[in-house]
Amino acid sequence: MTSSYSSPIFFQSYASFERQEDFITPSNRQNRPEAGWKFENSYARLPEAFYVRLNPVPVRTPKLVVFNEALAHFLGLNPDALKDDEGDAVFSGNRIPEGAAPLAQAYAGHQFGFFTMLGDGRALLLGEQVTPKGERFDIQYKGSGRTPFSRQGDGRAALGPMLREYIISEALHALGIPTTRSLAVVTTGEQVFRETALQGAILTRTASSHIRVGTFEYAAARGKPDEIRALADYTIRRHFPDLTPDGNPYLALLGAAMERQASLVARWLLVGFIHGVMNTDNMALCGETIDYGPCAFMDAYDPNTAFSSIDHNGRYAYGRQPQIAQWNLARFAETLLPLIHEDSQKAVSMANEAISGFSETFRHYWLAGMRSKLGLLNQEADDGALAEDLLDCMHRHGTDFTNTFRYLASGSLPEASVFRAQDFKQWVERWQARLKRQPDSWESSRRLMNTHNPAVIPRNHRVEEALEAAVERDDFTVMKKLLAFLSQPYRDPPEQAGYHLPPLPSEQPYRTFCGT
Ligand code: AMP
Ligand code: MG
Repeated sequence: MTSSYSSPIFFQSYASFERQEDFITPSNRQNRPEAGWKFENSYARLPEAFYVRLNPVPVRTPKLVVFNEALAHFLGLNPDALKDDEGDAVFSGNRIPEGAAPLAQAYAGHQFGFFTMLGDGRALLLGEQVTPKGERFDIQYKGSGRTPFSRQGDGRAALGPMLREYIISEALHALGIPTTRSLAVVTTGEQVFRETALQGAILTRTASSHIRVGTFEYAAARGKPDEIRALADYTIRRHFPDLTPDGNPYLALLGAAMERQASLVARWLLVGFIHGVMNTDNMALCGETIDYGPCAFMDAYDPNTAFSSIDHNGRYAYGRQPQIAQWNLARFAETLLPLIHEDSQKAVSMANEAISGFSETFRHYWLAGMRSKLGLLNQEADDGALAEDLLDCMHRHGTDFTNTFRYLASGSLPEASVFRAQDFKQWVERWQARLKRQPDSWESSRRLMNTHNPAVIPRNHRVEEALEAAVERDDFTVMKKLLAFLSQPYRDPPEQAGYHLPPLPSEQPYRTFCGT
């Protein structure tokens, strides 16, 4: 493992930043108790270096355009109290809910392999909403104005990318994949300037927490072991309270975080998801998918698929995601070294040993998922090869990842010529022979397959269509319809048939952007 910290230059501009608190008036702190906010602010009890307290920059004419009632209920919020004016005010940051103590989180990160000091440049954590079940979720604004970490950025977000995050994060949630979620989007009535002038927007998102690998890298870069320890202890308390360390809680933390990432990335691969920008600042220790910038779902199976316009070398391509997760975990491990063992040599070898288990752990989750996708209810030694040979076949013929699995579950492959190809036919015979060797009926296999192979995913052209209607024509009905199908991805009602179709050649190649 190598360390590549550069000097923390951003501290220089820190002191000169004007704190927004200075011009937020007390009347902005009015509250309607019936909304159900129940904030705690445990993150703010970390050492001060981890955050800067400040309020959002008010916006001109906020308008709530999307609101996730189901998520609001889950959080213990009362949707009726959060619509209309109150929703406009609260989800734009013009009114801070009672109990919230907004702050920008400090963090660092390796971006495309290079270390940088970052931090919330356009986001603010309001605090942790404690749900009726006693669970704790960060509530965060994204696009709420400049902070000391904004560098050259304007602290704002455009409507399209915020709606895109809303759609895709909610789709992942419905697919059963751990993710941050989207509670609301408001338009600000202000323009943001990218290549052109765009409508400004703020997304309110929730997360089990926003502690990133990059948060640990930030602490390590400051070189204060007490701060790293405080962060590690907090992370253990918050996300791994059941950790039973054999005398070394920090090594156990590394192992537990690795387990969650291995499981998460396996789940991405199993549905054809490409995160697109797996920088260490975009990897959350809680194991949730975070930061939906250039992410997208793959249509035709190709492990080299990368949609992001800035990912020139395919560093974050579909098939490289496990390797990158392991690389990121190595960066995490480096930050824990002083806590793992006082003898640095010993610490390195202990951490290396833990990290080297990643491939096997990942493979375990991936294979378990693949067995379900193929309707296999027991285990045989060759199951991995069976799954890989199918993927190779799909790659050779460029078949649609999602639909191929769904076709297999339907019991009949379509007449299209690729499925009649010799290698495909041979594979299907092998798979059918394998199914016959298990005691369970075809019906049980089919049921398993139909609950692990989605019928509908957020296809890029469908997402674009929804965004275009909303952004260009102020028509949110297309997005709402898409969200309704995506919320039950394993169901397949006839009216959703058009949503299975891959994009037309004219809609490809698809490119994604970081969405700033
Ligand atoms: P992301 O690419 O969204 O993961 O962001 C990387 C870093 O850039 C984070 O520190 C963000 O807070 C920051 N950032 C992204 N967009 C903006 C913006 N419009 N203004 C200020 N900072 C931003
Ligand atoms: Mg990020």
